[in-house]
Amino acid sequence: MTMMKTWLTGLSATALLVLSACSDESAQSNESTAQAQDAKVEAQAKDSNKEIVVYTSRKEHLVKPFFEQFTAETGIEINYITDSEAALISRLKAEGERTPADVFITVDAGNLWLATQEGVLQPIESDALEASIPESLQDPENHWFGLTVRARTIVYSTERVNPEELTTYEALGDKQWKGRLCLRTSKKVYNQSLVAMLIARYGEEKTQQIVENWVANLASDPFSNDTKVMNAITAGVCDVGIVNTYYFGRLQKENSAIPLALYWPGQSAEGYGVHVNVSGAGITKHSDNKENALRLIEWLASEEAQQMFAGLNMEYPANENVEPTEEVAAWGQFKADSTNLSKAGELQPAAVKLMDRAGYK
Ligand code: FE
Repeated sequence: MTMMKTWLTGLSATALLVLSACSDESAQSNESTAQAQDAKVEAQAKDSNKEIVVYTSRKEHLVKPFFEQFTAETGIEINYITDSEAALISRLKAEGERTPADVFITVDAGNLWLATQEGVLQPIESDALEASIPESLQDPENHWFGLTVRARTIVYSTERVNPEELTTYEALGDKQWKGRLCLRTSKKVYNQSLVAMLIARYGEEKTQQIVENWVANLASDPFSNDTKVMNAITAGVCDVGIVNTYYFGRLQKENSAIPLALYWPGQSAEGYGVHVNVSGAGITKHSDNKENALRLIEWLASEEAQQMFAGLNMEYPANENVEPTEEVAAWGQFKADSTNLSKAGELQPAAVKLMDRAGYK
């Protein structure tokens, strides 16, 4: 739908260009003026196909198929580089006005917020994006829009945990989980965002107590990634953990009988729901090709691209008109925290300090 709209907009823009060219030519029959006009039209047409440069911290296999499909549909070539988000943000800052980059794509609202804070993104005005991406998954000032959603939720051993024992993230700090909890390192932005959202809800004092209680329940030092957390649970090191849904999906794909399951915390009437986060995109501050940069981001939010996203990394489409894949839908529906994700960024520095104070390594 969105893609069709974009295509129609493109078409009418071309038609307008041709019309204005015609009227100019009839008004001034001078041949050289007509030629100059032709050259201008050609230059503008060429401009509308001008290649886009993307800086992205996403894995190449998660972006390349999209870029290829976009090029096939629009004729607009995409050049891209992949690197860590920190390296790309520094690079954008260092390059300033000379940057070749038009679009920045990364994971986690914390990173998108940081890019905004560092002044490397510009606000986007787009009815198409406003229509397809829910309010809580976009920057209130529109420097970035979420494109895919991942839930950071509780995972548990189906052999040693009855899901009825579980309720909320906070409750993982209760005595009954002593020596039974595994967590990923606090250095990872995913956990910084999770804790930032707790601060947004409860304030620092209560959040620090929650985090201290988690630390007191740890069965082992924090792990370097979510997959290791789940491997520790299946190995019997611990019984519960907190992970992003797509990592669980990957393990489940390798072994459908894996004795793990996801639990959606905070689903009671008063509960605030599951912490969700996004991967998302913005237009660079100094893009010299804003028009095509916007076309790409609008296309990535379109139903066609959202369907592709859903299939590729077992994430949830940010566009609510698009269904997740069957495997993802099988994890069940849940209420998601509707607090605007920009809080995950704003409170990230506070979250980092708080986790340090609470002894969460
Ligand atoms: Fe990840």
